[in-house]
Amino acid sequence: MELNLGSDPRSAVLRRSQAALIAAFGRIIRPPDKRRDPVWVLVHGVIGAQTKTAASNASTDALIAEFATWDAVAAVPVAQLQARLHRQTFPKVAAERLSACLIAIIEERGSVDLRHLSNYDTAEAMAWLETLPGVARKNSAGVMNASTFNRRAMVIDGHHRRIMQRMGIVPAKADTQKAYDALMPIVPEEWSAADMDEHHLLLKKLGQTFCRPRRVQCESCPVREDCLTGAAQA
Ligand code: SF4
Repeated sequence: MELNLGSDPRSAVLRRSQAALIAAFGRIIRPPDKRRDPVWVLVHGVIGAQTKTAASNASTDALIAEFATWDAVAAVPVAQLQARLHRQTFPKVAAERLSACLIAIIEERGSVDLRHLSNYDTAEAMAWLETLPGVARKNSAGVMNASTFNRRAMVIDGHHRRIMQRMGIVPAKADTQKAYDALMPIVPEEWSAADMDEHHLLLKKLGQTFCRPRRVQCESCPVREDCLTGAAQA
């Protein structure tokens, strides 16, 4: 069960940050017709380690364009998958993980089909996904939030986690799972799944601009007023 502690002051920080980021970067809204099939989002995440989104998009699109179904992709030998995943930073690892993941779904469900998850609540669906090889919290949340499932689940990539840590919203050493568990109860209760998606995309933008891994521009950062690290540098 998702516990929402609406009175936590960090909820107000998230609201103010969202407004400040929209003022700085403009709206970043994923159109409903751009929400992908859940299996596409899963595959995209499984092959996506240390790889730019555009490259993983192209690899995932190319796989389904060539083989037509994910069941057909599951039957492709790993070496052949590796050749088709040449855009990925680690093609061999991506191929091995993808093959293992798709085969595990077939063993469990009879085919590569995630429609049964629509009958689960979000936490149950994510727990099921995280039993699959190569699937961790970022990917399970992505399948729930950024696909046609359109559920309230926060996708947390490296940018998102680093900024939440620097702002003091999640513990400084929180991994993705701990950051997720810290964030979900304080997400403003009025935020929809689309708001959470936009929040993630805005933080990603912040992490690519003002709040980079090794270089911060706190003096001009849009969320400085609510950031512990930014305040310490004043
Ligand atoms: S104020 Fe500095 S540390 Fe905080 S989010 Fe902005 S750039 Fe990052």
